[in-house]
Amino acid sequence: MRLTIIGCTGSMSGPASPASCYLVQATGVDPATGARRVYSVALDLGPGSFGALWRHLDPRDLDAVHVSHGHADHIGDIISLQVHRRWGPGRGAAPVLVAGPAGTAERVRQIDGTTEPDGYEDEFSFLTLVDSTVYEVGPMRLTAAAGRHSVESYGVRIEGPDEADPSRTVSMFYTGDTDEAESIVRGARGVDLLLSEVGFTCADAAEGIHMNGVRAGSLAARAGAGRLVATHIQPWTDRAVVEAELRSAWSGPLDFAQSGQVYEVGAGRR
Ligand SMILES: [Zn+2]
Ligand SMILES: [Zn+2]
Repeated sequence: MRLTIIGCTGSMSGPASPASCYLVQATGVDPATGARRVYSVALDLGPGSFGALWRHLDPRDLDAVHVSHGHADHIGDIISLQVHRRWGPGRGAAPVLVAGPAGTAERVRQIDGTTEPDGYEDEFSFLTLVDSTVYEVGPMRLTAAAGRHSVESYGVRIEGPDEADPSRTVSMFYTGDTDEAESIVRGARGVDLLLSEVGFTCADAAEGIHMNGVRAGSLAARAGAGRLVATHIQPWTDRAVVEAELRSAWSGPLDFAQSGQVYEVGAGRR
């Protein structure tokens, strides 16, 4: 299983990266053809991410989108995927599975600027998430974990085959946007790679929205993650401050997400 950072800037697109979007891929057998192929899931589609995603795969080959929540910095570019499939080269492709909180189709309509009855049946197949919803994309098993944010939000645990030894299962967890929560610690338990938001620093006093570096480091330690990849850091935030906060609670392998960086889950950076 492979993770490619497409967009990682917190709360908006930034000078170095689109907003939130992560591509997770694994090879499995397609039951329709009996042949092995690569399955692809996008975790969020924030502003600017669709074009960057296109550099890594043909958008027609996207199998699923996990929408962590309806904030614009995580869902804004879903409309580019919709246009590509309704009017562009993606026309005629099977609907993409879009797993998200209740109301995700309505969020798409709001961004599109349309109203019901457009349900995007030709482009999307919606799955409404609740805590612990399990769904599969090829050889990958995804489990939603309720977050604690200003709107309904879901992190996701993904288990799939190791790239080097497909008989071995590796795992990762993406927090989406969330403050610390037991459901998130549970979802991330023992993963090889924890992709955690650090939307705040200790200078931000608000609770129930984002984690600061101390809380994200503590999440990694409590979950027993193999590696922490810090993401969703706002473009104006001093990374040295975030690093010092993370290091006060986490002594294991630590990276800062960077657009274009590829990880072999369970093995490290490529
Ligand atoms: Zn966000
Ligand atoms: Zn948010």
